[in-house]
Amino acid sequence: MPPSESWHALPRQEVLTAFGATRSGLSAEEVVRRLQRHGANRLPEPPRPGRISRFLRQFHNVLIYVLLGAALTTLALGHLLDTGVILAVVLANAMIGDLQEGRAEKAMQGIQGMLAMRAAVIRAGHRQTVNGDQLVPGDIVLLEAGDKVPADLRLLKTHDLFIQEAMLTGESVPVEKQTEPVASGAALGDRSSMAFSGTTVTAGQAMGVVIGTADRTEIGRIGELLAGVEQLTTPLVAQMQEFARWLTLFILAVAAGLLIYGHWWQDYDFADLLMAVVGMSVAAIPEGLPAVLTITLAVGVQAMAARNAIVRRLPAIETLGAVSVICSDKTGTLTRNEMSVITVITAGRRFAVEGDGYGPDGAVLEQGRVIDAGRCGLLAELARVAGLCNDAELKNQEGRWLVEGDPMEGALLSFSARAGLEPAELRRHWSRTDLIPFDTRHRFMATLHHNHENHAFILVKGAPETVMALCRFQRSGGNTNEPLDLPWWQAQVASVAEQGQRVLALAACAVEASHVVLERQDLDDGLVFLGLVGLIDPPRAEAIAAVAECHTAGIRVKMITGDHAATAMAVARQVGLKKPDRLLTGGDLDRLSDAQLALEVAETDVFARTSPQHKLRLVNALQALGQTVAMTGDGVNDAPALKRADIGIAMGGKGSEAAKEASEVVLADDNFASIAAAVREGRTIHDNIRKVISWTLPTSTGEASVIILALLAGLALPITPIQILWVNTVTTVTLGIVLAFERSAGDTMQRPPRDRSQPLLSRTLVWHIVVVTVLILLGVFGVHRYAIGQGHSVALAQTMAMNSLVVMEAFHLLFIRNMETVALTWQKLSATWTVWLAIVLVALGQLGITYVPVMQAVFVTEPVPMSGWLLILLAGALLFVLVELEKQLRLRIWQHAG
Ligand code: ADP
Ligand code: MG
Repeated sequence: MPPSESWHALPRQEVLTAFGATRSGLSAEEVVRRLQRHGANRLPEPPRPGRISRFLRQFHNVLIYVLLGAALTTLALGHLLDTGVILAVVLANAMIGDLQEGRAEKAMQGIQGMLAMRAAVIRAGHRQTVNGDQLVPGDIVLLEAGDKVPADLRLLKTHDLFIQEAMLTGESVPVEKQTEPVASGAALGDRSSMAFSGTTVTAGQAMGVVIGTADRTEIGRIGELLAGVEQLTTPLVAQMQEFARWLTLFILAVAAGLLIYGHWWQDYDFADLLMAVVGMSVAAIPEGLPAVLTITLAVGVQAMAARNAIVRRLPAIETLGAVSVICSDKTGTLTRNEMSVITVITAGRRFAVEGDGYGPDGAVLEQGRVIDAGRCGLLAELARVAGLCNDAELKNQEGRWLVEGDPMEGALLSFSARAGLEPAELRRHWSRTDLIPFDTRHRFMATLHHNHENHAFILVKGAPETVMALCRFQRSGGNTNEPLDLPWWQAQVASVAEQGQRVLALAACAVEASHVVLERQDLDDGLVFLGLVGLIDPPRAEAIAAVAECHTAGIRVKMITGDHAATAMAVARQVGLKKPDRLLTGGDLDRLSDAQLALEVAETDVFARTSPQHKLRLVNALQALGQTVAMTGDGVNDAPALKRADIGIAMGGKGSEAAKEASEVVLADDNFASIAAAVREGRTIHDNIRKVISWTLPTSTGEASVIILALLAGLALPITPIQILWVNTVTTVTLGIVLAFERSAGDTMQRPPRDRSQPLLSRTLVWHIVVVTVLILLGVFGVHRYAIGQGHSVALAQTMAMNSLVVMEAFHLLFIRNMETVALTWQKLSATWTVWLAIVLVALGQLGITYVPVMQAVFVTEPVPMSGWLLILLAGALLFVLVELEKQLRLRIWQHAG
């Protein structure tokens, strides 16, 4: 490769030659060779903290400091056994934390890998889409509005290309690009013949040759690193972590108070007292909570990814569960985006087109008879425009025809093939000289072509209203023109659109051969209307089901499309929107004041002929009504609306990089059903977070209260401090974490969206904490009392009390899974296998501590007789029945009151 750094100053052809490239692209073998030589087109990632530093980080928290302090003190007092147990707890804590963090990190890395950038290239003469990291110097890259430039490019062809280069130059206004060389000393911001990796195309189209990849790009030279792994957190979880920090401080204060009180007023032996206070602190501090919440998020993010919803910004996980309105695109999201032309209308004649998929085989029929397009001039001319005013390519892959590019254009190509024109032949004969690309704001595309006989033509395709406004004449067979019969065409458009077909109009005109640059005003005279094509795009079956699911979940689904009103209403009816016949067009939206819009927007489900700026207005209007809005988008102009929505959802397939960057969620399959699935997962995550908290907090307070009560009342401890340490550690890794893995309950999508203003630590939860704490106290002290009363030894009484504590926690877990609903069915009670696994593991642990001799020696336990176990199980079952009764009464009273 030549050493030149000033590709911007060289003529295009010289650059191509220097890279051994041509406009038809590199061959597949050459790409492989270059990829080996230059490596993948990827910037180096920032160094991640290593495994060891992650492990060491686990020791950096208040609880560990307290434990280490306590370990030192017990060591100084010569209580080696206690020191050993405390150190074991410290180690176990660090290991659990490390494991959980590792899992969360891995989940996030997996997600980021799914968001790889795609790039359109020309290789071996064909357009194809590849991963951005597969680009090599000499590759021919195609750019369009919304793309992120995937490597440094010397531009070969541009059409109104504007690029936003703020990240390199600080200039926030998009700069216009062109292909002529610029002065070799030009500053980066003035190199208008170049497109730089990482910048964003805001308008236009272009083709360029890759002159630098990976760290041999301008962005790579700056040494800018990719953003690091995002912290796995959401506002709610951050709030809980903050709460846990304050709670810890509070508990430490209580601990200090207990230490003073116990020492001065109760006369405890200091070593025993210290152990008791340490046990109390460890039990009360919800040290596992932040980690378990993180795991809950990680599991949820992975579940969403498995359902094709990739979360880019983590706070979105929470908001997703609260979504109350989904504003969806039509094409490709609610419909399959597998288009085919089935209707063709020319002046006074109507044709039907047959054929499967995108293949060239098929026929054009008129009143049931096959028509030879070669003998019908008007049809042939129409098919030629369809094939030429077109950027797509069709390719046959293992017998299946696939579209590279826009599916609608693919359908137009196969229509022109079915009418007897060979696309490659057509394009060879009529080479394209210039173009005005399609834009959702002007809704047409125009191309300029020259043939070998030195004739030139402008071809136009676009929304019927737009094209009709440009034409004063229509083709009426042969080569004769007559004035445009506007009412007749409008009636045709309406009749086709009402069947749910997308209608497109085609037009053309001859121009001087000297004409080589296409401008907007060239379309203003002489354009002749050729006819209409109607395309079907069947709704996705999954989308129909998902819309229904959203409705039962209290979520309103609205469709916002650039398509024709009648087409939009027909599709709205097919997918089952609530009010498919109530419609506002972009024009209506422009006329309505904000106040009028506020009245209309809630009850209108279909918005047609809209532009991207209308989406922004709709989001604002819905949010002003207090709705939590999810909005989909794909184009570069959708970015403001996606940013403004509570949840911006970009299409992973057809969406532009700009749209993806502006959104919270990216759909891997562009499918509406994936949005519904993401909402379901979002609700599940929120439920699980609440369940985790509702189990953990009462458990902590229950365990701690046992010790506090004993110390304050000067009673014998019903459970020894090191037994509390054991229980706390064992249940944290089993019962404490299993709720993070709960799957969606059957009713997840049958209740209305959550009210976002509701706090997590609700009054109900505080009440629940009090109830469970009291029940645990009664259970533990009760069992202990009873055992002593039976004449059992102190050690056996404590063993039984400890076991009853664990059994009550397990029953409490079963209750929590079901804490919201009145109905108590067996199916709901029968836990998932993860829950049973956790319970079995805890049971094994408890049998171990009760029966294994070594553990009996360390934890001072004794074998429990059969009658003891019955009592213990009874305590657990009683707790379950009582909290369940309490819940039933509470919910029923509420139901009556409300
Ligand atoms: P949608 O919301 O269905 O994706 P778009 O905003 O993409 O709608 O398109 C709006 C209208 O613009 C279409 O109904 C069609 O008439 C026209 N249109 C769409 N794509 C093209 C194209 N590639 N060339 C010309 N016209 C197009
Ligand atoms: Mg579209």
